[in-house]
Amino acid sequence: AEPEPSLEIRDLSVRYGGAVHALRGVSLRVPARGVVAVLGSNGAGKTTLLRAVSGTLPMHRGRVDGGEVTFGGRSLLRRDPADVVAAGVVQVPEGRRVFGRLTVDENLRAGAIGARDRRARAAARDRMYETFPRLAQLRGQRARLLSGGEQQMLAIARALMAGPTLLLLDEPSLGLAPRIVEQVAEVVGQVSAQGTAVMLVEQNAAMALAVSEHAYVLDLGRVAVEGPSAELSTSDEMRKLYLGET
Ligand code: ATP
Repeated sequence: AEPEPSLEIRDLSVRYGGAVHALRGVSLRVPARGVVAVLGSNGAGKTTLLRAVSGTLPMHRGRVDGGEVTFGGRSLLRRDPADVVAAGVVQVPEGRRVFGRLTVDENLRAGAIGARDRRARAAARDRMYETFPRLAQLRGQRARLLSGGEQQMLAIARALMAGPTLLLLDEPSLGLAPRIVEQVAEVVGQVSAQGTAVMLVEQNAAMALAVSEHAYVLDLGRVAVEGPSAELSTSDEMRKLYLGET
């Protein structure tokens, strides 16, 4: 059997428009199983890192200045976003951009890229409704009428419709109430348990450390700290510097 694909980022450097050096030699690994968290405050470079992986940097006038990104041994750099999706890497963008005028069911249909035929797509939707029973209740509802938490579930479910082997999540807890953040964390755990690797970008360090096995903290475009999440969540330095505790 083929070895399961892992994401390897080596010494990655990214600039915007020449002047802004957003990533300065970042190295990071997401194994084929489990959840890896990428933490850091505003402007640390988290979104830039996801864009470099998903092939969406050029849309924001960003460019890779050095380093390498591979998935399953093949380079992802300078590929079209659609090629990255075809390689099994799917991003859920920040701000849960669902199609507001479309129903929940139509949003899921829109995510079914790569499914072989009608029957495979229907089966994929059925699986999503099993994983997300709340979405099954809302299947005929227009997405813009959903709560923030429900929209985040829908954005994740839509991404899963493409059958990714690696899911990239950009701040899924942003703007959600603590109780809903817990639900999102549960979903991340579920996705991982079903065999999809997750790279979870978060400002909510407590949530991200609770749901991940390994974590990296970005600061001003560099990896400032990395280690097993259980260790980082009890480290005094982490608490002071990055978890906003005193
Ligand atoms: P946030 O939590 O705000 O999304 P982040 O950690 O994701 O923060 P990035 O969005 O990756 O950080 O930004 C890293 C740096 O790159 C910041 O200094 C930011 O101002 C800059 N930057 C991001 N996008 C662009 C762009 N399109 N053009 C110029 N500079 C940019």
